[in-house]
Amino acid sequence: MIILDGKKIATDIKNELKNEITQLVKNGKNIPGLVAILVGENPASEIYVRSKAKDCIEIGMRSQVEKLNAECSEKELLDLVEKYNNDKDYHGILVQLPLPKHISEEKIIEAISPKKDVDGFHPMSVGNLVIGKETFASCTPAGIQELLIRYGIETKGKHVVVLGRSNIVGKPIANIMLQKKEGANSIVTICHSAAKDLAQFTKQADILIAAIGKAQFVKADMVKEGVVIIDVGINRIEDKSLPKGYKIVGDVDFDTVASKASYITPVPGGVGLMTRAMLLKNTFKAYKLYGE
Ligand code: NAP
Repeated sequence: MIILDGKKIATDIKNELKNEITQLVKNGKNIPGLVAILVGENPASEIYVRSKAKDCIEIGMRSQVEKLNAECSEKELLDLVEKYNNDKDYHGILVQLPLPKHISEEKIIEAISPKKDVDGFHPMSVGNLVIGKETFASCTPAGIQELLIRYGIETKGKHVVVLGRSNIVGKPIANIMLQKKEGANSIVTICHSAAKDLAQFTKQADILIAAIGKAQFVKADMVKEGVVIIDVGINRIEDKSLPKGYKIVGDVDFDTVASKASYITPVPGGVGLMTRAMLLKNTFKAYKLYGE
């Protein structure tokens, strides 16, 4: 069994981008920039935005964090998005979700220029992904595919079973793996909460991608020998032996499933770090395609 080391691959990606940006600076070129917009004071969102800004700075990318208070109007947020749509120094715009209830997430996402949609949530990006056109794929699924490619895991003709059909993980990873392209070309099954006998599907998986948000849900008797496990889940479970009183686990029961798997992502240290790295990669791509 081989651990798919998201930390190592994410570091490799960051180093590659850092080298490219160093070269741009040497050549007196503009550099890629990412703006993160945060509304309100959600502690988890603040942590996410801070770590994304830190990642940018580490690789020499321009980084800006814009904070609006929770009572700001939808118009204020739309105006801020529009300001960055027109700012040549920022090639990626990220609006941290969730937004306060009085603001339509849909409206805000649609206001981001598809050329700067580095989160890949804009309907134009989603549509392009489905029809196989060059686009920004959302960062978690893009990170999953990158992990598979960098570990040389065969995907062509393999049965990928995806647990979960969210717009940010389940649906886009299914669409990515379906494409007739390198690192994809798989047979794809998507499962969701209406599945009556989930194990019937998971046992068929050559590659199982679990994104349901249920702690240690996938057990050893639900998978076949040699399966590749991609665990997207991030769940807190109580652990009184730890100072925080909890630990983070995935959707897969790692301890029992790992011995049956050929490859498996750990949680933490797997997909989560890849997600962060792919945001940088998407921003660099936006710069190359539209911004240099
Ligand atoms: P979500 O929007 O809550 O969607 C969960 C999906 O799982 C839904 O499609 C739901 O089905 C399905 N589901 C729930 N229980 C199920 C069951 N018992 N059997 C089969 N399907 C079931 O979740 P998400 O945003 O995709 O996130 C999933 C997990 O990944 C969470 O733990 C989240 O924290 C984590 N995550 C991690 C990263 C990362 O970077 N590592 C990024 C994003 C999310 P229905 O559609 O029928 O309700």
